[in-house]
Amino acid sequence: MIDLRSDTVTKPSEAMRQAMARAEVGDDVYGEDPTVNRLQDMGAALVGKAVALFVPSGTMANQLALRAQAQPGQEVIVESRSHMVRYEQGAGGALAGVQFHWVPGEHGIMTSEQVEAAIRPKDPHTIQTALICVENTHNSGGGTIYPLATIERIGAIARQRGLPMHLDGARLFNAVVATGTSATEYAKHFTTVSFCLSKGLGAPAGSLIATNDRDMLEKLRRFRRMYGGGMRQAGVLAAAGIFALEHNIARLKEDHDHAKRLAHLLAQIPAVTLDLKSVETNIIFFDVKSSRSPADLVAALKAEGLLINAVGGNTYRAVTHLDVSADDIDRAGQIFAGTLAK
Ligand SMILES: *Cc1c(COP(=O)(O)O)cnc(C)c1O
Repeated sequence: MIDLRSDTVTKPSEAMRQAMARAEVGDDVYGEDPTVNRLQDMGAALVGKAVALFVPSGTMANQLALRAQAQPGQEVIVESRSHMVRYEQGAGGALAGVQFHWVPGEHGIMTSEQVEAAIRPKDPHTIQTALICVENTHNSGGGTIYPLATIERIGAIARQRGLPMHLDGARLFNAVVATGTSATEYAKHFTTVSFCLSKGLGAPAGSLIATNDRDMLEKLRRFRRMYGGGMRQAGVLAAAGIFALEHNIARLKEDHDHAKRLAHLLAQIPAVTLDLKSVETNIIFFDVKSSRSPADLVAALKAEGLLINAVGGNTYRAVTHLDVSADDIDRAGQIFAGTLAK
């Protein structure tokens, strides 16, 4: 089965499993897991921050960032189709008590003018803006990359207005590999930066949230405990994360090449509408005109050995990752063309 539903379906390799099996561990709630501590140091250094905290998921990382940097009743600026808005079960409202101010970006990318216009005035009647969030790459935008200049402009406005910024960098390293801009360069505008180990980097679980502010780290640690994310011998998982950071960053380029190749194959199919320029990293969105319903088309593709996601209307999403080979990509293109021709 060629599984292009998400880059979260990657399974730990044999070598990663060996690293996990050998991991030295301790109780991480006491701060005594040496492998977790090593991963946190590595992750912080990679994004140019002083410290980082290991958490079970990217959702928890985002939620800790919200909880630690905004008070209940305050407002957080987010892009309208961001992960925090769509895929976190309303946790921003339910757990952090914040209200989101949605800014509609183009392919998920907000402009600095839009962000500036969304900041509330310091008026006694008006809800107060607490935090600005940026998602890079933007998942629902199609794996799109924030231009560094846009981040710099948003960062300048945030500093001027005294507002912290959080980077949801679930796929930050996809942006890094695609552009050559370092993670530190992206991260320096943000108070908190999170990234996932469990997506294209191939670890079975875990994210990191990094900051320069040690008081912030202590807040994040307390809220992690509150949210049930304090883990014990988590070094077994952290070892997978270390392996992922050491071996699986540079190879993300392969995923991007595969996505471009697949997009090229799909775009040749008459029933498919796909903007090749929109494919910047490892995520492809495209439309299909078909007499089949999306559920039927997904089932027909599955019967031929290809899994993709229908994401509403006539739109579909395919995601490349480290468990998909170049041959799989060619085969996926054939399955797609063949199934639509039937
Ligand atoms: C996947 C993802 C997350 C976190 O997801 P988890 O499944 O909770 O690890 C956060 N933000 C974005 C943009 C994502 O794609």
